[in-house]
Amino acid sequence: MESSLATLTITEAAKKLAAKEITSLELCRACLIEIEKNNKSLNAYLEVFADVEEQAKAADARRAQDEREGNVSHPLLGIPVATKDNILIEGRHASSASKMLENYVASFDATVITKLKAAGVVFMGRTNMDEFAMGGSTENSAYGPTKNPFDHTRVAGGSSGGSAAALASGMALGTFGSDTGGSIREPASFCGLVGLKPTYGAVSRSGVMAMGSSLDQIGPFGRTVEDTELLFDTIRGKDALDGTSIDAGFYPKREPTKKIGVPRHLLANGVDQDVLAAFEESLKVLQSQGYVAVDIELPSAGLALAIYYIIMPAESSTNLARFDGVRYGLSIKGETLAEDYAKSRGAGFGPEVRRRIMLGTYVLSSGYYDAYYGKATLAREKLRKEYADVLATVDAVAVPTVPTPAFAIGEKAADPLSMYLADIFTVTANLTGNPAISVPMGTVVRGDKTLPVGIQFTAAHGDEDTLFKLGKIATGESK
Ligand code: GLN
Repeated sequence: MESSLATLTITEAAKKLAAKEITSLELCRACLIEIEKNNKSLNAYLEVFADVEEQAKAADARRAQDEREGNVSHPLLGIPVATKDNILIEGRHASSASKMLENYVASFDATVITKLKAAGVVFMGRTNMDEFAMGGSTENSAYGPTKNPFDHTRVAGGSSGGSAAALASGMALGTFGSDTGGSIREPASFCGLVGLKPTYGAVSRSGVMAMGSSLDQIGPFGRTVEDTELLFDTIRGKDALDGTSIDAGFYPKREPTKKIGVPRHLLANGVDQDVLAAFEESLKVLQSQGYVAVDIELPSAGLALAIYYIIMPAESSTNLARFDGVRYGLSIKGETLAEDYAKSRGAGFGPEVRRRIMLGTYVLSSGYYDAYYGKATLAREKLRKEYADVLATVDAVAVPTVPTPAFAIGEKAADPLSMYLADIFTVTANLTGNPAISVPMGTVVRGDKTLPVGIQFTAAHGDEDTLFKLGKIATGESK
């Protein structure tokens, strides 16, 4: 990505827009040029909206009107953003990168979209993802994998890989994804970005296609922590359309301890040595600013993956039951109603989605429900308590976001279990509902390529502020 308006942070662009040094139209055109150059090879956007320039002109007109009326424009007015293909925008296609919804057009705006429209952003397009957000590499998209801008032979991460690759390559200034087990933080780590999974309930889930309803959150990707914070502030808040949503002040404010908890017992195996070294360097930056890294024990953390891969498919299989070939999307007629279902679902869903529907149906079936789903739910409670206890004594828990840098396309695709292992450090925050952020912690070298890696901080419920503070220190945005 050459240096152009498309490489600005949102904060920088907003300043230039406010000072009338640039227009939204110029800014969006700069991103369209990058899209023209990069999208064919990266496959980050499934669709670039045809009306980008019109939207940008409308934003410029609104700014002029704000000025005439003496109103302060929203900092996101006229900023080009992109959203994941599972977030509904009224009148536009939304497919969750599935054949099942290839021709589906959304009939209403997701609440986050309503909020972004009110702020006046320009929607550049919908970004590629693993089908129904199931995966960690965007290889499960029915429309081909997204490639990593740092090395086109590697994955961008997933499931929000398109949103990450689009931002990392100058095709938007801010993007949004959904995170059920790491789908914002993992691609952020692989693409050198900041990615936030908010506290469960902090952002309305109305209008995001449900995967695991007790795990899902929409969240932002930014080039900086400051940008990420601004995007989060714009979309957060209680919403009458989502009974699990909460207001910003829902959880009590906390006193900082200036301690960072590091669960060393989890890092002993399976983390690449140079990723671990980058992690230690990142911790040193925090230590140089007066933070103390303390060893912590999270005895149930080793079970997190197992718990997640029971609860998530159980909820996913339930949520995907609505795609029956009758009410939504693809419909293939058979001789009987049962055949309609089988044919539509067989043709509409890809292999990973079918695998999870089978797993979920199995763990919820009578006879196995207590042994799997029931036990996983109890273990989840235990994990939640362990995190709450630890987070009463430290400001945040720090781990590498992923044990490795971006892996090669095809490397894990044939072996789902090895793919699931990449989620080892990210699934916990979804199970416990805590907010977690991934921020860049430097790079590692693989072959002739330099690849970014991220550090993840997890804080107490409602304490995103601490994540932003730590993230800014770790990245050098603030001291
Ligand atoms: N990689 C995880 C999975 O495959 C996370 C997915 C997500 O967060 N949507 O389930």
